[in-house]
Amino acid sequence: MNIEKYDEIRASLPAGTRLVAVSKFKPAEDISALYQHGQRVFGENHAQEMREKHAQLPQDIEWHFIGHLQTNKIKYIAPYVSLIHSIDSFDLLKEVNKHAVKNGRVIPCLLQFHIADEETKFGFSLEECEEMLQNPEFQELKNVAIHGVMGMATFTDDQGQVRGEFHHLRQIFDKLKTDYFPQNPDFKELSMGMSEDYPIAVEEGSTLVRIGSAIFGPRNYNI
Ligand SMILES: *Cc1c(COP(=O)(O)O)cnc(C)c1O
Repeated sequence: MNIEKYDEIRASLPAGTRLVAVSKFKPAEDISALYQHGQRVFGENHAQEMREKHAQLPQDIEWHFIGHLQTNKIKYIAPYVSLIHSIDSFDLLKEVNKHAVKNGRVIPCLLQFHIADEETKFGFSLEECEEMLQNPEFQELKNVAIHGVMGMATFTDDQGQVRGEFHHLRQIFDKLKTDYFPQNPDFKELSMGMSEDYPIAVEEGSTLVRIGSAIFGPRNYNI
């Protein structure tokens, strides 16, 4: 783990941008060390892994779920998750709402958009999302709170392209805010930027950067 890099990233972020330390595939000891250093927000992308870490680690950690979420895994995170960044379908949102009802809570969620020039990334198109937001059934979901949007840029060295994609997400955020959430102060998060591209994301208005490998080092997917 690179505490100096962590400090440098923290120091570089403007006041309105929070850091989600992405600890997926990293042991609880690494999270604990960063917690001791003051970090409270951690991001995971596997529901069972998050459940285990939640059980082992201090209870005031804010757990953010950032990966593709299967409906049969919601139960592992619903009791305590602070923010789900990755709502990518109406069906998923409805299921999250059901689990939130069971747990007697309101679960904050972000709508994930497909902004990258890659087939593999999950997310809504603007059209699909607006269809959901205009559906009367959407209004009935009282146990989810939409706090904003999330997206991932294309994995490329072309910084102009990355900037364009983040800018596009910013425009989507602004449009949804104006057309669907004008009176809703909760709709304020623009989750974008990872280890390789967060400085550009911050310049384009990110309020939540999700940074893993720059802090924790490269991930070993074979463990
Ligand atoms: C893994 C992951 C990150 C962090 O990626 P790094 O390149 O390690 O900073 C951010 N967002 C999502 C959705 C991820 O899955």
